[in-house]
Amino acid sequence: MQLALSAEDQSFRDEVRRFLDEKLTPDLREAGKKTGGVLTDPPATTKWHKALHEKGWIAPAWPKEYGGPGWTEMQRYIFSSECAAQHAPLLPAFGIRMCGPVLMKFGSPEQKSFYLPRILSGEDYWCQGYSEPGSGSDLASLQMKAVRDGDHYVLNGTKIWTTHAHFANRMFCLVRTAQTGKPQEGITFVLLETSSPGFSVRPIITMAGDHEVNQCFFDNVRVPVANRVGEEGQGWTIAKYLLEFERGNAYAAGLQAKLSAVKRAAAIEQSNGRPLTEDEAFARKLVETEIELQGLMMTEHRVMSQLSQGQNPGPSSSLLKARGTEVSQRTTELGIEALAAYIAPFEPEARMQGTNMKSVTPEHGVVFMPQYLNTRAATIYGGSSEVQRNIMSKLILGM
Ligand SMILES: Cc1cc2nc3c(=O)[nH]c(=O)nc-3n(C[C@H](O)[C@H](O)[C@H](O)COP(=O)(O)OP(=O)(O)OC[C@H]3O[C@@H](n4cnc5c(N)ncnc54)[C@H](O)[C@@H]3O)c2cc1C
Repeated sequence: MQLALSAEDQSFRDEVRRFLDEKLTPDLREAGKKTGGVLTDPPATTKWHKALHEKGWIAPAWPKEYGGPGWTEMQRYIFSSECAAQHAPLLPAFGIRMCGPVLMKFGSPEQKSFYLPRILSGEDYWCQGYSEPGSGSDLASLQMKAVRDGDHYVLNGTKIWTTHAHFANRMFCLVRTAQTGKPQEGITFVLLETSSPGFSVRPIITMAGDHEVNQCFFDNVRVPVANRVGEEGQGWTIAKYLLEFERGNAYAAGLQAKLSAVKRAAAIEQSNGRPLTEDEAFARKLVETEIELQGLMMTEHRVMSQLSQGQNPGPSSSLLKARGTEVSQRTTELGIEALAAYIAPFEPEARMQGTNMKSVTPEHGVVFMPQYLNTRAATIYGGSSEVQRNIMSKLILGM
């Protein structure tokens, strides 16, 4: 979708392009291009985070008083579109997009002044300790115990699916501080260091072959009470607030870049002399996905304008999460179809001679297949699509 930009927005876009030309070095573009998962791995993300921080552009949605750039919603969209189109590394969201907004709303003055600058500078790398074996969709059933011992809580239990825990030096974590009353009432939100004695990480390798997620174990891990965010037992309210920011993501710009890559691959001539884009069934699916993407942009616009006004995204974030991840899955499915048209996996000779294989660079294969496999998890993590629909029916439709 082409947007009509005002003269001011065009000059902002030119400024972003100049910055990307200078700072998005070939190694960073390569790392971004080859990212099959949700996040690019360090060290590329560390370097890119630093470049954005130095420019004052690392936290586009943060209020100015906390170090945000004070951009309009359109400027934020331009920035993410340009970054996606030029294959900028995909930065982790745990600090900037999740923990930061929570600390701004619920953190003590000491927590804000200590953690927020470190989130901005990239000095701290955060991970999210919510899910446990048996407590995913039913998160309020979580069992990880935190027992008070003087000025500390002592943590015992396990967290699972913890994305990038093997890179993180800090975790925001939900723990059980009481067994009585409603399960939600006994949950507390704490911040901890992954270097704490008794904390350990075990990798989980996904079907795409990536090491992205982990299981974390806590064996008498001591966390200072000063690291508790909000009151004891207030964790459920804080956890839900954070999830709105996790789900209220900007999907459209990245998806447009992915769909353009699919179109480029599908426009290459096949052995029958016609590109796949001329195949009626494929062309229809492509157009349907583009229409869904435009619908997604409208939902995104609603959520992003709430963020621009300093509000939290609210239950619309569930709509955005469900649609964003579903369109993302469709897009990567089309990528696989586009590739498959040029590959005859059981006829290696035909593959090399009779097709236009050389035009489909390995890059297409490297990115489309891992992205396709990785995106299968997108309708599960951050709360499954079924759970998002339950929230929408309750909080948006009032059912
Ligand atoms: C790649 C990946 C990364 C992740 N990263 C993190 C992370 O960094 N930190 C973290 O804490 N967690 C993380 N998670 C965990 C994620 O949040 C959970 O997997 C998710 O909430 C689903 O929980 P579950 O896996 O226990 O599935 P279950 O809750 O057992 O669900 C199984 C199925 O039942 C359905 N279902 C469950 N309850 C209902 C209901 N009430 N109504 C209708 N359908 C229902 C679900 O939709 C799903 O299809 C990650 C998961 C994945 C796959």
